[in-house]
Order: sequence, then C-alpha cells, then structure tokens
Amino acid sequence: MSVSVNMDSAIRKMIDDYGVTAACSEFLAQEPGQFINGRFTQGHSSERIDVIEPSTGRLLTSIASGTRADVDDAVAAAHSALHSGPWAEMKPNDRQGLLLRLADLIEKHARTIGEIETLDNGKALGPCIDMDVLGGADLLRYMAGFATKIHGQSRQVSAPGEHVAWTIKEPIGVVGAIVPWNWPFNMAMWKLSAPLAAGCTIVLKPAQQTTLSMLYFARLCEEAGMPPGVFNIVTGKGSTIGNALTAHPDVSKISFTGSTPVGRQVGGASGENLSPVTLELGGKSPMVVFDDADPEAVAAAHRWSVFFNAGQVCSAGSRLYVQRGLYERVLEETVKLAESMKLAPGLDPECDMGPVISSSQYNSIRGYIEQGVAEGAKLVCGGYEVDGDGFFIPPTVLAVEDNRATVMQEEIFGPVQVVMPFDDEEEAIRLANDNIYGLAASVWTQDISRAMRCVNAIEAGTVWVNAHDLVDSAIPFGGFKQSGFGKDMGPEQLDHFLRTKAVWIHI
Ligand code: NAP
Ligand code: MG
Repeated sequence: MSVSVNMDSAIRKMIDDYGVTAACSEFLAQEPGQFINGRFTQGHSSERIDVIEPSTGRLLTSIASGTRADVDDAVAAAHSALHSGPWAEMKPNDRQGLLLRLADLIEKHARTIGEIETLDNGKALGPCIDMDVLGGADLLRYMAGFATKIHGQSRQVSAPGEHVAWTIKEPIGVVGAIVPWNWPFNMAMWKLSAPLAAGCTIVLKPAQQTTLSMLYFARLCEEAGMPPGVFNIVTGKGSTIGNALTAHPDVSKISFTGSTPVGRQVGGASGENLSPVTLELGGKSPMVVFDDADPEAVAAAHRWSVFFNAGQVCSAGSRLYVQRGLYERVLEETVKLAESMKLAPGLDPECDMGPVISSSQYNSIRGYIEQGVAEGAKLVCGGYEVDGDGFFIPPTVLAVEDNRATVMQEEIFGPVQVVMPFDDEEEAIRLANDNIYGLAASVWTQDISRAMRCVNAIEAGTVWVNAHDLVDSAIPFGGFKQSGFGKDMGPEQLDHFLRTKAVWIHI
C-alpha cells in the first residue's frame, strides 16, 4: 500500500494486518490541506500539526495549521457564495437534490470514512460506520427535506389604513461551525445539515486532533456538485481559528459543540459580535434506577452510554444512582459488563472499546480516577494501567457515598462510571439535579406515574425512560443549565439558521 510519508511503521503494520479500503490508503498517502473556496490548499502558513493515532500513540500524518488569513479567505468565499452564483440562485428542490446526492455518496463511502475516522480518533470501526457515518447521512436526508418546506406567513394586521403584510424566511448568512473530536464526522453533520438545508454557507473548524474524515467528505461535496465556497474547512488551533471565526464581522451565526469552558469564551465572543450562537456543551448525565427496574437492562445501557466511544460521549450516563434495594445487583451487572469488554484498536473487528483520543485526555481521566480514590471513592473495577504506548483506559467503576465528590460533579469524559445509592424518589430527584450540567438523564422504573414525575422534575434537555442515549434526526438534542442552549436536529434546529423578514405593502 502507499502511505503518507510520515506514517509511523507501527501504524503501517496495523493497517496491513487489519486491511483498509484502497480509497483510505490513497487518502492517507497525501498530505491533507484545508478546503477553501472549492480548493484543497495548505493555506497561508507552511506550518503543520502532528496527528497522532491513539491506539499506538504514534504519528499518523500531519495537517495544515490554519491562520487568521485562511479564516478570512474562507469567510470571503462563503460570503460570496451566499450572495451570488449557483448556490444563491439554486431553487429549493435543487438544493434538496444536492443534499440527497451527498447523503448517497456518504453511504457509498461509509466504510472508507469509518476507517479514516477510526485511525484518526481511535473509535471502534463497526459502530463508527453505523452510527457516526450512516447516522450523519440520515440527518442530512432528514434536513434535506426541509429545503423545500421553508415558508413565511401572511398575517392580518390591525394598523389603520389598508395593508397586506407577510413574513419571509431567509438563510441567516455565513455560519461558523466549530466541532469537538469525540464524534468528528457525526458532529460536523449535526452542524452542517440544517444550515445547508436553510441555504446558508459554512466555514467549519474541526478539532485539530480529528480533521481527516471531514477533509475526505469535502471530496464528496465536490463530487455531489456543491458550488465552491458553500462549504469550507479551516484546520488548526482553536485559539487561532476558533477565535478568528467567532470574532469575524461577516459570520452571522456560530454553531459550537465542545466543552463548557470553551463554550463560555465562544458565547462571549459571539456576544461581542452580536451574532446568535448555539452552544452544545458538556454533561454529567444521571441514570436514576429504582428498585423495580431491570438490572440487566440498566447494565446493558452502559455499553451505549458511559463505556461507548471510550466514555467520550457528551450525554454519557456517567452518574449512576441506584435505589438501595437494587444497588448490589446493578453494581454486580455493571462490573460484569465492564470486565467483559475487549480493549483493542478500533480496526480490530472484536474491539468493544478503543483508546481515548490523546495523551492529555488519558492523563486527565487517570487523574480523575486517582482523585476519586483519594477523596474516598471505592475502586470497584478497572482503573489499572494498560501496557503499551496507546491511550487505553479500561472500563472503570467507582462507588461513592457523597454526591459532592469531584468524580460525581465534574465531566470526566472517559469510561468511568460513578455509582451511589439513594433511599427514595425525592432524594433521587435532588441528587440528579445537584449538578451544573443539564444535558440528559434517564429514569429506570416500571411505575409510569413515578417515571412521569421524574421526567417533569429533572432539569435536562433530554430525559429517557428505561433507555439511555437514544438519538434520532427528528428529535431535538441540546442541554439546559451549563450544558448550553439551542438545539441540534429536529425542526427546532432549522429555525436557528433562518432569519425572519417582515414585509408591508400599503395599498
Ligand atoms: P473543546 O476543547 O471545547 O473544543 C471544541 C472545539 O472548540 C475544538 O474544535 C477546539 O479547537 C475549539 N476551540 C478551542 N478554543 C477555542 C476558542 N477560544 N474559540 C473557538 N473555538 C475554540 O472540546 P473537546 O475537548 O474537543 O470536546 C469535548 C467536549 O465536547 C466535552 O465537554 C463534551 O461534553 C462536549 N460535547 C458536547 C456535545 C453536545 O451535543 N452537547 C456533543 C459532543 C461533545 P482545538 O481543540 O482544535 O484547539
Ligand atoms: Mg487523531
């Protein structure tokens, strides 16, 4: 196979052992640039950023370190495409057709996109293809349908005289989209599907650890016939590119997913710019389990929440509250699941859990486990160091008695479950709400009245009953409290990318 000039031999061997598509090899053999105004370009600086493959800790490739001047070029291209040329003139059904073609191409290239994502991020390939990639195509199709269903309203007015008045919905303008590294492809699809359906143009800044799947996607945009400037990717550091994007006067809307501290900075900069912002931020989502729940179902849910994607899931059910009558049983089932999961590189077909993204994330998670134990938590399973240079953390369970423990309050963003017993419903609701975050929650019970009382009382943007971490293109997702504001997905998201113009005619 041909590989990138820099690729470490350990990664080359892993790729040869597991095998990847020819398209993935060919893509990795090139030095990726940025994607600005329909062209792949290194940009204004020759500086590159190393990209590390997480299961080996070795060099995979490098990416262009974008500059403010690159952001200026990308915004200028997006601004121009918004106001003149083929995209500005495109009819809604043609825009819908373009997005549907793009979704078809994602489906056709799903395996290659998944392989690129797995090598870049470390995640298990099978779920990556099914959820990250095909889930992204599904959202694009869902939003494509709205392109032909955008409409204003005529209104009867009471103002003196004779008038007709109505509203027009217009694309809000150039959208600056900033995404994290935990679901690089999927989060980018969350960010770009609705604005494209609305007729906006986009400058996307992926997280510097994980840009590759989006650069491959840019090729598909070209193949689908997307006009130059409609979708642009600037790669590099958040401190440079993110800041330049949020402060840019020609960016009309910022759509951000990431951590709460960075979200606060992004919100501040957008406020300074008077541009609206959507913030999808961190979480510390409770799972509240009553005595009448099914303990095996609760444990199985961990596979898809706190241990899924190595726990790097914003809505992970990372606080497990169990009523005392079922506590030992749920703990036992959870440990059984944790100890059965196979840690392996994401390309390994038997991988249940890949590595975490980076050495700094690895150190941060290990630091939380140590702090938890130092503060009195009991290490029930996991927590040990895994041999090798990869960033593997085993599924870990900590038991605490105090809800104010750091590991119960802060987002660990790793495969660490923290469990605590409770006595009654009132206490469970109080514990669930005793946190700065309000992204999601789940309630486990067979009692429908109790389930509904909890749904009403828990402060979270999503509440699941007898399930955790279900998402669907039709259902809006977004947090309360310090988990942010605004929604991704569902019809609610489309509104964030439309502005309303009122028109009056005096007769
Ligand atoms: P992060 O550190 O906040 O980074 C997110 C993005 O912001 C990256 O692209 C980053 O760039 C960029 N950035 C950094 N500084 C910036 C600045 N001053 N201005 C503008 N952009 C800036 O988050 P992360 O560590 O990548 O992701 C993990 C976090 O995302 C967790 O807290 C998780 O809960 C949250 N998340 C939330 C949701 C949701 O839907 N609510 C979904 C997924 C993840 P660089 O890193 O390249 O410098
Ligand atoms: Mg990487």
